[in-house]
Amino acid sequence: MNDFNFQTSASQSDLLASVTENQGAKYIAGGTNLIDLLKYNLLTVDELVDVNKQRREILTKLAHGGVMLDAFATNADTAYHSSIEENYPLLSKAILAGASAQIRNMATNGGNLLQRTRCYYFYDAATPCNKRVPGSGCGAIKGYNRIHAILGASEDCIAVFPSDMCVALAALGAIVHVKNLSGEQQIPFAEFHRLPGNTPEIDNELAHGDLITGIELPPQGFAKYYSYLKLRDRSSYAFALVSVATGLELENGLISLASIALGGVAHKPWRVTGAEDFLVGKEPTSENFKIAADMIIAGAVGYEHNKFKIELAKKAIVRNCLMALNPSTQLPGAQPSA
Ligand code: SF4
Repeated sequence: MNDFNFQTSASQSDLLASVTENQGAKYIAGGTNLIDLLKYNLLTVDELVDVNKQRREILTKLAHGGVMLDAFATNADTAYHSSIEENYPLLSKAILAGASAQIRNMATNGGNLLQRTRCYYFYDAATPCNKRVPGSGCGAIKGYNRIHAILGASEDCIAVFPSDMCVALAALGAIVHVKNLSGEQQIPFAEFHRLPGNTPEIDNELAHGDLITGIELPPQGFAKYYSYLKLRDRSSYAFALVSVATGLELENGLISLASIALGGVAHKPWRVTGAEDFLVGKEPTSENFKIAADMIIAGAVGYEHNKFKIELAKKAIVRNCLMALNPSTQLPGAQPSA
């Protein structure tokens, strides 16, 4: 880890100016991924600008019936907030499926969106990695790629985005609220994270100095029919091989609204709105969910060690959609074995 200055301020404009005017500065909140990157010498900074004094209420209710999550609140406080448990249980369940209790107590909502891939080669400075050193190559494509992408990858990078929380935020149709010295910006969740293309070093749509201040949730929380399924190599403290967030609405026994997002398969939570539209007006049966699953996974490409994910993802979608019909059988944070 290199030497750096550390500063904090209660003034948001001071924080924005400190980072914007110094290309070597970065914001730090929980630091649960950032400190790893510094320790591994994958990141060097001149200055860390602590934003924890920006913490406000965990959530505020909005006029349209949705809520604004505080970007600086911890993942744990958010998951256990009574309004989230009651109105957005899919989000609560996804957060509790991620990391460990200790990390969730430190990690913040804004930081969760900004964590970097857990590709083994990204963290190993002795190997080529286009995300770490653009133009150096990709160690994973012909290496050990069990945890890597089957959708949206490129010839330059096949990494996946590791968050559980963000899979639920994608299914909920969240909006990311961002501030910078020029003003405020709102980014729909589907547009926030980037696929690698030929610039895998760029993870998301934020510019230097942009600060995530809130995450807006729409009124529709899928509080009645929801499920988050995370399939992984061990039952705790592991990243998803495949995860699925499903929210459904039913009317007269037919699906009136469906939202399905996948994690562990691409460098952003993966949604295919055409598959969701297909389900509208259909009966919530395995057969219909299977057709939707085929639509969602269409075009998937496997590599030597992760081909299994294609079939696993299809089965996980069907299973999770069926589980969403009876969410009371899901224990908070509990995950069935794969
Ligand atoms: Fe780097 Fe992406 Fe290749 Fe992993 S998959 S080694 S992050 S370029």
